[in-house]
Amino acid sequence: MSHSWALALCWFLPGLAVGSFLNVVIHRLPRMLTLDIAAQPYNLARPGSHCPHCQTPLTLWHNVPLLSFLWLRGRCASCHAPISWRYPLVEAGNALIWMACGMLLPMSQPTSLAAALAWAFGGSLLLTLAVIDWETTLLPDSLTQPLLWLGLGVAEMGWSGLSVSSALWGAMVGYSSFALIAFVFERVTGQEGLGAGDFKLLAALGAWLGPLPLIPLVFLAASAGAGVGLVLRARGQLREGRYVPFGPFLALAAMLLVACGPSEVLHWIGLA
Ligand SMILES: [Zn+2]
Repeated sequence: MSHSWALALCWFLPGLAVGSFLNVVIHRLPRMLTLDIAAQPYNLARPGSHCPHCQTPLTLWHNVPLLSFLWLRGRCASCHAPISWRYPLVEAGNALIWMACGMLLPMSQPTSLAAALAWAFGGSLLLTLAVIDWETTLLPDSLTQPLLWLGLGVAEMGWSGLSVSSALWGAMVGYSSFALIAFVFERVTGQEGLGAGDFKLLAALGAWLGPLPLIPLVFLAASAGAGVGLVLRARGQLREGRYVPFGPFLALAAMLLVACGPSEVLHWIGLA
């Protein structure tokens, strides 16, 4: 028992630290892509972390994941402006993903530390994409492409139980099916339904899961997305001209599929 607690902490704590960095990426990457910030350096490292409200730089102690949020009761130490709940949620979410990859994967298939780390980083990329898409409706290439290459690499190493050719098929089927749907949808309705970012995200997920699991994945994501969209519309929380981004639902559905085991899910629905 104490051994498994130690193992859980060994994955949870680095997961928290990486989650803290993901918060920086989630906040800054969309700004780096969309703003013209020529005047002063703006990247993942500079300027140092500061309160977006009063610009006070954060101390080392204020950067401690989760604990600082609890200690400060969710408020900036100098101006007391509320800190977004996104910060502790992303940190805790990423820590749980890392713990799941570190503790559950070795039980289900013969694997190694490197394999668990590769899955953990894949989960972190997916979490980052989901939150950025939810907040900005962007799915940056600089995140979907590493997710795709990591998925192909994981297949090449035999860590996903997929052959490299299934991973490649998954990526091609993922991209082209969404590209086709988007083309038809645009022809029929004159509106853009899916963006190129969605094609690339589904390509990356296809590289991790293979082609067939994309069927329950898209079905699950579309149902959840439509449900949430209807609720938001009914409550008047859907801003004018804004649509519900699809990426977060694809990411959640992919995580659920991995947690249940893609081959088990295909078996349940009679596809394998
Ligand atoms: Zn402040």
